[in-house]
Amino acid sequence: MTQKPKDSFAERSRQSLMRRANAARLALAARAVRPAAPRATGATDFLTLPGYGDVRVYQRIADLLGISNPFFRLHEGRASAETQIGGRALVNFSSYDYLGLNGHPAVAAAAKAAIDRYGISSSASRCVGGERPVHLRLERAIADHYGVESAVAFVSGYATNVGVIGQLVGPKDLVVLDSVIHNSAVIGGVLSTANRRSFPHNDLDALDELLRQHRGKFERALIVVEGVYSMDGDYPDLPRLIEIKRRHEAWLMVDEAHALGVLGKTGHGLAEHFGVEGSAVDIWMGTLSKTLAACGGYIAGSEELVYYLKNFVGAFVYSVAMPPSIAAAAEAALACMHQEPERVERLQSNAAFFLRAARARGLDTGSAAGTAVSPIIAGDSLPAVFVSEALFRRGFNVLPIIYPAVPAKAARLRFFVSAMHSESDIERALDATVEEMAAAIERMSTLRLPDISALQGTG
Ligand code: PMP
Repeated sequence: MTQKPKDSFAERSRQSLMRRANAARLALAARAVRPAAPRATGATDFLTLPGYGDVRVYQRIADLLGISNPFFRLHEGRASAETQIGGRALVNFSSYDYLGLNGHPAVAAAAKAAIDRYGISSSASRCVGGERPVHLRLERAIADHYGVESAVAFVSGYATNVGVIGQLVGPKDLVVLDSVIHNSAVIGGVLSTANRRSFPHNDLDALDELLRQHRGKFERALIVVEGVYSMDGDYPDLPRLIEIKRRHEAWLMVDEAHALGVLGKTGHGLAEHFGVEGSAVDIWMGTLSKTLAACGGYIAGSEELVYYLKNFVGAFVYSVAMPPSIAAAAEAALACMHQEPERVERLQSNAAFFLRAARARGLDTGSAAGTAVSPIIAGDSLPAVFVSEALFRRGFNVLPIIYPAVPAKAARLRFFVSAMHSESDIERALDATVEEMAAAIERMSTLRLPDISALQGTG
C-alpha cells in the first residue's frame, strides 16, 4: 500500500481541516458550558488561517533578498510565445497556448459571432436556462475527436475533476491516483469520501500490486492518471493501464489537459500516441484552457456516463453554463487544430528540440519525455526563483515551480513550449538558463539567509 507523503498538499489540507474542525468543536463545547462572552481568540481573524504566516515569511525573505515576486505578473497583451510585461517584450514560456491558437482569427471570429448572437453570459445553468447550439456542437466535436459516444463541457477544468471524481465514487469505492496527479483530482478524491490510495509516479507495477491487494474490498474502483503530467512532462503507458484496469475491473480516467494537441501525430492525445481506440478508456477528461485557447473542462465517454454526469455532478447541474463565446471559441480551436496539422508537427518538433538541447547542455530535465511541458530541475526553491528572476531580466518569462506544487527538493523551472517558438528562442533561453543556473549555485554558496524565527509573526 502506498501512502501519500505526510507533507503532501492533500495531507496538509486534511490536517488543516481537522484542526479547524477540532477548533470549531471545542468552541461549541466551550459555549455550551460558559455564557457567551466576547472572545479574543482571533477565530475571525484571517491572519490566523493555516499557512498564512508561512506565506508572509517567504515574502519577507524574498524582499530581504531583493527577489521580485515572479507570480501574478501583469501581461499587457496576448501571452503566447511572446508577451509584453512592464513595456518590455519577452519570449514567453509560461502560457500553455501550445498550438498558438489564442488569437487565431477563426477562433476570435467564432467568439465574437457568439457574443453578437447570444450575449456574454448563458445566464443560468443548462438545466434551467436551456442549451445553446454552441454547447452541443462543442460536445459533439469533442466526442468525435475521441471516437466515443458523447461528451459534456463544464465551466472550469478544475471543477470538472473535483465534481466528476467527487460524484462518481463514494465511501464503498476505491480511487487510485498517480502520486503527482493534479490537485483538482486529489481534491475530487477527498470530496468523494472514497478510499484513496496513490502509487509512485508512473509505476504501473505498483498500481497493479495495489489493486491486487485492495481491489477486492471495494465495490467500484477508479484509476486517475494524466495524459501528459503537468509538472514533469512525461506520460503513462496507456496500453498497460488498459490491461490493468480491465483485469481489476476498474474505471480508467485520463486527464488530457496537457495531452490534447500535444501527443499523437495529429494531436489527438495519448490514445493516438499509442494507437489505441478512444473507447478503450472509460473517462476522458480534458481542459479547454490549453491547446483550445478557451476556458473550461470536458468529459468524453459513453452515453451512460455523460447522461449520469449531466444529471448528478453539482459543478454542472448547479453551475452556470459556459459562456457561448467560450464554447464557440473552443469548438473553432479544435477545428483549427484538425485543419492545420502543421501546428501539431511544429509543436512536437520544438518540444523534442527543447529536450535534446537541454540535455546537450547538461541541464537536468527530470523525467521529461519531449512533450510541451519541459521541466529543468533546480533542486531547492531559492535557486529556481533566482534563475527565473535572472531569465526575466534577460527577456525570458519562465516561472519557477516550488514546494508545495512539487516536492521541496525538486523545485524547477517549467517551460511550456509552443508551436510558435523558434529554435533560436529555445536555444537562447537554454543558454541563459545554463549561465544563470551556475550563477544561482554560486550565489547559494555565499548566501546568508535571514533568521526565519525573527520574521515570524511579522503579519
Ligand atoms: N488538470 C490538469 C492536469 C491541469 O494541469 C489543470 C490546470 N492547468 C487542470 C486540470 C485544471 O484546469 P483549468 O486550469 O482549465 O481549470
